[in-house]
Amino acid sequence: MTEPPSTVSPLFSPELATDLVSLRRDLHRHPELSWQESRTAGALQRALGTLGIDDTRRVLETAVVARVPGRVRGAPVVAVRGDIDALPVVEATGLPFASSAAGVMHACGHDVHATWAVGAAALLRARPAAGDVLVVLQPAEEVGQGAAKVVESGALDDVRAIFGAHVDRRFEVGQVVADVGPVNASTDTFEIELVGAGAHGARPHESADPVVALAAVITAIQTLVARRLDPALPGVVTVGAVHAGAAPNVIPERATLLGTIRATTPAARALLTAELRRLTEQVAAAYGVRATVALRDGTPPVVNEARATAWAREATERVLGTSALVPFGTTNMGGEDFAFYLERMPGCFMRVGAREPGGERIAAHSPRFYAAEESVFIGAAVLAETARVASEALAG
Ligand SMILES: [Zn+2]
Ligand SMILES: [Zn+2]
Repeated sequence: MTEPPSTVSPLFSPELATDLVSLRRDLHRHPELSWQESRTAGALQRALGTLGIDDTRRVLETAVVARVPGRVRGAPVVAVRGDIDALPVVEATGLPFASSAAGVMHACGHDVHATWAVGAAALLRARPAAGDVLVVLQPAEEVGQGAAKVVESGALDDVRAIFGAHVDRRFEVGQVVADVGPVNASTDTFEIELVGAGAHGARPHESADPVVALAAVITAIQTLVARRLDPALPGVVTVGAVHAGAAPNVIPERATLLGTIRATTPAARALLTAELRRLTEQVAAAYGVRATVALRDGTPPVVNEARATAWAREATERVLGTSALVPFGTTNMGGEDFAFYLERMPGCFMRVGAREPGGERIAAHSPRFYAAEESVFIGAAVLAETARVASEALAG
């Protein structure tokens, strides 16, 4: 049985440590896809009850919100979030508690996130924050929807700051990243349809060729990042799918392309999407083709607020010492729906090292990805202490 790392072991009784490890393994063995997390939610609610946290309720069917009472009635409320869903991946970790659900796997470590949130609730029950702490076990992160739905449900209406974290095998167990500013990109998608006029492949002068226009559009929109976006900001415009035509000697009537836009600030996101539309329409027009640009909003960028990040850093230093904090060193251009909380309230999204010493840097969503079990204890301890520091500061 895994034990807590020595830096945090005094915080966990042997019983609590055992409960958390078995909860993590149980969740890992029984992964559920986004919006289907009913067994998971039940297991989490039961685990909270076993640990003496009675004020729990189900929101949106598969979300669980627990309220851990604070010391001071009426003091500001803060929240800790753990996401709980799995991915459609065939597990290849060889772990003794590997997935028993065909084609479904906790390949993003949300089994650990859910468990450390429960662990944080237990630690906060043992040593409460000034105000109440809501522990939010959130479904459907992988489809980018759960956080927005939790916000809409009103469950967080009295919350003043929120904290969460992601396991990351680029960092060793005991290392924590809590950086201010953008840490994840926005993830909007676009679909462009170009409609021209079809013709015989040998008579292009009778067509308005959407294939040639499509080629020009693809090339033109590469200049959005190169020539429209401030070069000090990271950004991505990727075309991932192209569809047009069916025969070598027929010019089709229409062509479509699908892609994604990633940006790290709300302003850069707005700029790239507006310029994508403008440039596409004008390039298409130059080729005598009509363009329809459909944009679908994904998750916003995750932007860690300065004061909340300072609280997370202070808490991490208190729990793990000053050497634990390491810089991210990069912006993750992947998305994370924690961003929807940060649109409503300040907070900080951290990375928690999940690589055992000498272990491999396996990327999340890989069939071989797993988080070192010790990261459960680090995450629980850091998030609980962050909630205490934040609560104290907001109450002060
Ligand atoms: Zn993921
Ligand atoms: Zn994830």
